[in-house]
Amino acid sequence: MATPTSDQEKRKQISVRHIAEVEDVSAIKKTFNRHVHYTLVKDRNVATPRDYYFALAHTVRDHLVSRWIRTQQYYYEKDPKRVYYLSLEFYMGRSLTNTMINVGIQSACDEALYQLGLDIEELEEIEEDAGLGNGGLGRLAACFLDSMATLGMAAYGYGIRYEYGIFAQKIINGEQQEEPDDWLRFGNPWEKARPEYMLPINFFGHVEDTPQGKKWVNTQVVFALPYDNPIPGYQNNVVNTLRLWSAKSPVEFNLKFFNDGDYIQAVLDRNLAENISKVLYPNDNIFEGKELRLKQEYFLCAASLQDIIRRFKAAKFGSREAIRKTFDLFPKKVAIQLNDTHPSLAIPELMRLLVDVEGLSWEKAWEITVNTCAYTNHTVLPEALERWPCSMLEYILPRHLQIIYHINLLHLKEVEKKWPGDMDRLRRMSLVEEDGEKRINMAHLSIVGSHAVNGVAQIHSDIIKTEIFRDFYELMPEKFQNKTNGITPRRWLLLCNPGLADLISDKIGEDWIVHLDQLQNLKKFAKDPIFQKEVSKVKQENKLRLAQLLEKDYGVRVNPASLFDIHVKRIHEYKRQLLNCLHIITLYNRIKKNPTAKFTPRTVMIGGKAAPGYYAAKKIIKLINYVGNVVNNDPIVGDKLKIIYLENYRVTLAEKIIPAADLSEQISTAGTEASGTGNMKFMLNGSLTIGTLDGANVEMAEEMGNENIFIFGMTVDEVENLKRKGYNAYDYYNSNPELKQVIDQIQNGFFSPKNPDEFRDLADILLKYDRFLTLADYESYIKKQEEVNAVYEKQSKWTEMAIHNIASSGKFSSDRTIIEYGKDIWDVQPNYEKLPAPHESRQ
Ligand SMILES: *Cc1c(COP(=O)(O)O)cnc(C)c1O
Repeated sequence: MATPTSDQEKRKQISVRHIAEVEDVSAIKKTFNRHVHYTLVKDRNVATPRDYYFALAHTVRDHLVSRWIRTQQYYYEKDPKRVYYLSLEFYMGRSLTNTMINVGIQSACDEALYQLGLDIEELEEIEEDAGLGNGGLGRLAACFLDSMATLGMAAYGYGIRYEYGIFAQKIINGEQQEEPDDWLRFGNPWEKARPEYMLPINFFGHVEDTPQGKKWVNTQVVFALPYDNPIPGYQNNVVNTLRLWSAKSPVEFNLKFFNDGDYIQAVLDRNLAENISKVLYPNDNIFEGKELRLKQEYFLCAASLQDIIRRFKAAKFGSREAIRKTFDLFPKKVAIQLNDTHPSLAIPELMRLLVDVEGLSWEKAWEITVNTCAYTNHTVLPEALERWPCSMLEYILPRHLQIIYHINLLHLKEVEKKWPGDMDRLRRMSLVEEDGEKRINMAHLSIVGSHAVNGVAQIHSDIIKTEIFRDFYELMPEKFQNKTNGITPRRWLLLCNPGLADLISDKIGEDWIVHLDQLQNLKKFAKDPIFQKEVSKVKQENKLRLAQLLEKDYGVRVNPASLFDIHVKRIHEYKRQLLNCLHIITLYNRIKKNPTAKFTPRTVMIGGKAAPGYYAAKKIIKLINYVGNVVNNDPIVGDKLKIIYLENYRVTLAEKIIPAADLSEQISTAGTEASGTGNMKFMLNGSLTIGTLDGANVEMAEEMGNENIFIFGMTVDEVENLKRKGYNAYDYYNSNPELKQVIDQIQNGFFSPKNPDEFRDLADILLKYDRFLTLADYESYIKKQEEVNAVYEKQSKWTEMAIHNIASSGKFSSDRTIIEYGKDIWDVQPNYEKLPAPHESRQ
């Protein structure tokens, strides 16, 4: 470490993270002991580590309560515009450490637990992840909640309290097996049930014409029971709310059975209603079209909108009678952001509430709806776009289907007005797809029903305008925007990489935690040999810690001096884990061909879950594990190359892996990854990226300069050209002997001698059906990996580049993203004022 200047010492003293006040420590010890006794009902002779975790969680939660109540009071009094983030997924991970950090009691808790003879890190490991998401989309929602609270916005997350989150992945004989994620088994100390705010949700039934308009009658009711979860801002005394709905059967459910005397059957059938919030659908970027999923989507929208309208009406500005007039104010007081089309039924549901229930005219209701709602698109992959069969909507949500048809009628009139007689355009732009089974295109509904439509990285927003939604862009160009994704620096640096966070704070102060742009100030130290040594020491310590974890949890030994090459994300063909696999096999063949040649030792770690019904993705996992088996057990290979499959990749594992990465793999086919956020996490933690010009990689390269990132492969234009002229994988296979050898090995069972056909279908995909043009990028990928090795051999150069990565990552803070949403879509500004702390008097 450099000798601290007196300035730096002063900073350490004022830093809330470093110094624990004696009074705080003793108060925490007291509260903790009180919770062991009164909440857990244990004494220290019989208390288990889990009891201590819960006692600590309750102690920390106590510090949220007054702040939470005060924040909500403050919103009621000030009545700012509310932001509602609707998402079928919130991939929150753990809450304990994040809460301690954001409330500013981490060091006091550390010290208190130490004085009590307990290991706080061991207790932190007991917390279950809130795994209510699949991947990037769900994690984005979680990062946004952190940023909105830190920016003092009156924001609410609305989602579903799945009883089972994303499945736990076990790798058994190289194959993925799924286990249910029973995350609530021991109780959830962070949530507060609010049965007093339970709301009825209708399904099925039919529509009647009455003199007062359309009536949706004879429905089956399910109740939505809200559970509130605190979202603390970073050291600003703000605590926002994530409200998650749980399905609850009404008392009179199956009244018919009760009356028929089949009491037992009637009670058992209550489960049917409650199944709605039972389990998260484990698909990432795949639309499955199941009835239960449609019910989940409507359940979220209907419950959230009732809640939003109730809060709107309860606001101080209007008396009850004035509400009809003041619904004009709705878009000025309410912004609803749709996280992909999953909650897009909010559009027809808001129309139904305004027209059928509140009695507004269609025109007025439509203006309000469009001005309130905004839609974020997350993918251009056709298999991911939601297209619900009209027959299913008619059965479950008959009134909504009518409303959608009417929206479509008026929308197509506008199209016809602009392009008279253009029948093909009418067909392309209809909300109703007529080829094959009649379906509603939910993206089209979302675009028409929103005032803003955004992509999640510049290149993706451009593709939306020129490709998949081109017709809509031509009709209403003013709606289309870009909002490049971001990640919260609190969890993805301060929490997960305290060594690097402290080093940075020592160098440039702590302002970066809420103003990530400040990391730019590190650029001037990129060539400083002392700073380089400090940065690479932190990385080395993180690698060592990961190596110890891998040995303890998986019994695998890795060489911490080797290059840690990490590829973690959901398994999907478009993300091209197969391309990584081709590289691994190429390296293996090179070692075997020339065992004495100079070789840069690598540990390749791949992790991620496959959707349980995605055959090719599961085969890819199996191939990686089988290749690993051959490579890792070959004495000729030795320490040069190791392949590790990281089981059960999830938020908590990401927090441990990413700080230890040397190289980040972001190798999707250009034009397929909307943004990526994993890429940003690695950059912020000082890994170098090998990647294509896809998603946010493009903007990362812009920020750091091409000399600090390993870009390879086709551009979006080159991909399009190749597709137009016709991609033939054999062209590449036949012209590159190394590639041919690798594909042949996969095809002929080299890695699966007991079943030579095991991976034939993967070879077939690569050679015949590959929509993602893997072989076309093989050569440039292999060459770029050689460049990676060459740079890794020059430690100082590598670290200099790593520092440039960290210093250039400011743009990718979700704080920046949220400020842009606020300015360009919600008309909501950040509020940087701290609320008073609980012990401070109110003005
Ligand atoms: C950030 C994150 C993702 C998204 O990763 P991508 O590489 O952008 O697909 C997925 N899963 C987890 C657990 C994450 O933390």
